[in-house]
Amino acid sequence: MSSNTARLLVKNIGHLVTMNATRDILRGAWLTAENGFITAFGTGTPPADFASVSGVTVHDARGGIATPGLINTHHHFYQTMARAYTPGNNLPLLPWLAHMNKLWKPFTSDDLYVASKLAMAEMMLTGCTTTSDHHYVVPAGSGDNFAAQFRAAADLGVRFHCARGSMDVPSKLIGDWAIQTADEIMNDVVRLHREYHDPAPGSYRQVFLAPCAATSASKPLLVESARYAKEHGLGLHSHCAETIEEDDFSLEKFGVRPLEYFAECGWDFEGVWFAHGIHFTDAEVKWLGDRRIGVAHCPYANMRLGSGICRVGDLQRAGAKVAIGVDGSASNDSGHVLGELRQALMLARVRYGAGAMSALDAIALGTSGGADLLRRPDLGSLEIGKCADLAIFPEIDLHSSGCENPVDALIICWSRQVESLIVGGRVRIAQGRFLDHDLDALIADHTGRARRIHAAL
Ligand SMILES: [Zn+2]
Repeated sequence: MSSNTARLLVKNIGHLVTMNATRDILRGAWLTAENGFITAFGTGTPPADFASVSGVTVHDARGGIATPGLINTHHHFYQTMARAYTPGNNLPLLPWLAHMNKLWKPFTSDDLYVASKLAMAEMMLTGCTTTSDHHYVVPAGSGDNFAAQFRAAADLGVRFHCARGSMDVPSKLIGDWAIQTADEIMNDVVRLHREYHDPAPGSYRQVFLAPCAATSASKPLLVESARYAKEHGLGLHSHCAETIEEDDFSLEKFGVRPLEYFAECGWDFEGVWFAHGIHFTDAEVKWLGDRRIGVAHCPYANMRLGSGICRVGDLQRAGAKVAIGVDGSASNDSGHVLGELRQALMLARVRYGAGAMSALDAIALGTSGGADLLRRPDLGSLEIGKCADLAIFPEIDLHSSGCENPVDALIICWSRQVESLIVGGRVRIAQGRFLDHDLDALIADHTGRARRIHAAL
């Protein structure tokens, strides 16, 4: 079986979860794609004329559940090398950051390549076909960090949205070795925009501006980032409303709440999205909704750090875009995208009650919701003309055996890995394994590098 032909037929799909406007689910389905985009789908026998054309890759879904490829909207790939880091394992956000941030002085772009590859491989095995990464630690002499990330994504064949992170203000949380000047940052943004950003349908590479936080980015940098993003139609991203301490810091230093400060800096248009968004007031929720600003909901990290519960239902009702993010691997401490959707469902029910979020609502956070937030109308649902990105999960596994509703079980039962993964009409994972990557070798390389970084401290 070749994974590189331009025509693809996926047959024997047990449940095709389209996530279209009416959330149609087809049983006993097939799907065809050409040059990366979906051309047809239906139930019953696949079209014989398509299958008979030479050069068609025929992929057997083995009765699995196919969803649109999952979309992750917030991560810090480099933190895969600081999972379960003892000094921070039982701390809230700020003291945890102060410990974890000490690790990165010897970090290089080669390390980031491996960390990015591991983070993306982990997520692909859990259904992800498009991911953003918010990388903001750029030690002097560490090499071209963002080129390394684009290279890792291209090697794996996953769609990558680079949220070019930045810090230009010294802080108690991280050494001066990690920060750059605002001019250095903006010059690099322009370079990355020119070299990598592809806005066309089917794009595999996009660039966003992403100052780390109002605590570590100067007002001129926040203002210039917003101006550049707006002028060029690029996304704009940062952390906001993750902790109560952030409110206190902002009021003391800037005299306003964190979101008001971002608004003062021009972060007030569609295309902006914030990670976490837990501690917004009613007025702030309305302000976000009125502007269709997005929130990357990171339930696992929010629970792990005891940060609080995002008001997902209120934000959605107000009109804000809400999507899923696994957040950095050191505050999760894993990047299981399907599992993150399960956590979103559970946490919504903790806050709002058992009727707050259905399994399909949770899947929407990771599909149509992610596409809306990243402004990718070519992604997020399985419809003719959309990208042929499919996550195909086994219909039944040990943890869901005996279920009556396999699609609900995908979220309500314990989270599983994919049976296969297709990105842009190309099969990347089949029978639970990468077709062209040695995962064991990647884990060994990654573990060795992480241990050297831990030992260097
Ligand atoms: Zn984050």
